Amino acid sequence: MLGQSFMGTAPSAPIFVDLSWRPGVDRGSRPLWLWQKLSGEPPNRAPATRVCGLPIAVASLFLEGLQRTRCCKCARKGKAFEIVEVEGSGLGAVACKDFHPGELVLTEEPLCKFESSDASLRMVERKCANLPDDLRKKVLSLEDSFSFDTKTFRGILETNGMVCESGSDSDPKALFLEVSRFNHSCNANCDYSWRDRQNCMDIYAQTIIRAGEELCIPYIDLREPRQVRQQLLKENWRFRCRCEVCCLKDFSESDRRRLRLGELSALLYSSRTSGRTLRIAKKLLKLYNDEHISAQSYKLEACKFGYRASLDLNDNEIAPRFAQLGLKSAMICHGPEHEETQEWVDIMSMWD
Ligand SMILES: [Zn+2]
Ligand SMILES: [Zn+2]
Repeated sequence: MLGQSFMGTAPSAPIFVDLSWRPGVDRGSRPLWLWQKLSGEPPNRAPATRVCGLPIAVASLFLEGLQRTRCCKCARKGKAFEIVEVEGSGLGAVACKDFHPGELVLTEEPLCKFESSDASLRMVERKCANLPDDLRKKVLSLEDSFSFDTKTFRGILETNGMVCESGSDSDPKALFLEVSRFNHSCNANCDYSWRDRQNCMDIYAQTIIRAGEELCIPYIDLREPRQVRQQLLKENWRFRCRCEVCCLKDFSESDRRRLRLGELSALLYSSRTSGRTLRIAKKLLKLYNDEHISAQSYKLEACKFGYRASLDLNDNEIAPRFAQLGLKSAMICHGPEHEETQEWVDIMSMWD
């Protein structure tokens, strides 16, 4: 039997939820209906107040302490964030309003896509050089970590290219004008998610974010000790990370946990028995909480393995808990419409 610690901050929602929504029969859209189910709120009670398009009772499941959505001037103009000078790291994205976990920060289509091969890079370089004036200037204003004197399109592409295929860790890459402005943090409060069919990158808040806080995404796998992270960032982006985790006076505990997280997550892929996989997945979920890692994608990975293993073991107690946590994590890192979230919706429906 698993304690509450496994689920992290204990949700007030019931562990088992009814997922019998039928399109065209039941009221509301599936995502909203789902949030209502997760929050334990009766689906047809009229919501009084709304936060980010969700009834407050529904949103409150993830708000955890958020009092009221505070808006600065830009937020009133409809801006969720602005690109401003951030102390010590050049330009960065700063929140103009409060965000709750799973809230969409930005959706952006790539300016261009490319592969790492020399031929592909050269073709895109030419394309960039022939862009209309204003666009070309915008591209040239992006960071170039590799050129010494004058910025080059090659340097800009290599600095800002983001992998845009799920399951791939190198190619193809895409260049974004706005997403490129988000700086790195080893405890990033946002994460990015690529939607293949719609050809766009989404950025979602992973935790509660207050207006005025910088919005950051992880550039690297965060499950590494400080020295490894610093080295990766230096090699690939030529900067020294000064995030709150890297600046901890005593980072030995954090290092120990992150090293362990890296080892354990690799073991998920090599484990040969379901019993072992299940133990590893539970240990990982506890460690992610202990280290206060905001990015939900890591938890999602552990849930995938944990769920499959608990099915193999016919453990009907643990399986729906993994299913629910997997669904919650998928909602927060990929949003309600993403294919991966839909897979978890289907999984949950089996525990009706
Ligand atoms: Zn603002
Ligand atoms: Zn850092």
